Amino acid sequence: MPITIPVDVHLVTITVMNRSGPRPVLAREIDCGLDVGHVQTGINRANSTWAPDFQFNMRTIQKVRADLPGDTGFIGDPERWFLYGQYPARSGVSLICVRQIGRVDGGGWIAGKSARERSITMIGFSLNPLWGQTLAHEFGHLLCLEDVGNESGNLMYPSSQPGTLLTPAQRRRALDSPLARQFRAAPRP
Ligand SMILES: [Zn+2]
Repeated sequence: MPITIPVDVHLVTITVMNRSGPRPVLAREIDCGLDVGHVQTGINRANSTWAPDFQFNMRTIQKVRADLPGDTGFIGDPERWFLYGQYPARSGVSLICVRQIGRVDGGGWIAGKSARERSITMIGFSLNPLWGQTLAHEFGHLLCLEDVGNESGNLMYPSSQPGTLLTPAQRRRALDSPLARQFRAAPRP
């Protein structure tokens, strides 16, 4: 039986305000570009990489609007921490989908590896079929895996095209992570 981890998905539309006039006006909106079907497809792909140990289940999905502190529409460190604060994980994983992180498409960030901050940010590059593999990589960070620098076929190789391989040692480490322990079913007496 895989360990089942719930995922709450936030499809974020960023609003960019123009504050140069007497009062702020909406300058533009940046939709994440993903819908429920895209996200489910990505999660399915991540699940096939993490089988048979883990299964990530979309528990909720909601469209939200975020008025970022800066007015650039650019997501740097202050903006992503703002989003992590807006959509914290509650007993599971918070998946925060935005159009673009930094100034390039591709890649993802995680908020932290503590028990309280299991949030994850992904870009909304909906046409990229590798999206789900990046998601699987970020789930790996949430399961306490580090990037590996020397193995290009490995899931934790830092790349916009991570591989699918996980070593037995990586799987053991993931199975021993706080997130895994939280959701592992109690052994039968
Ligand atoms: Zn990484």
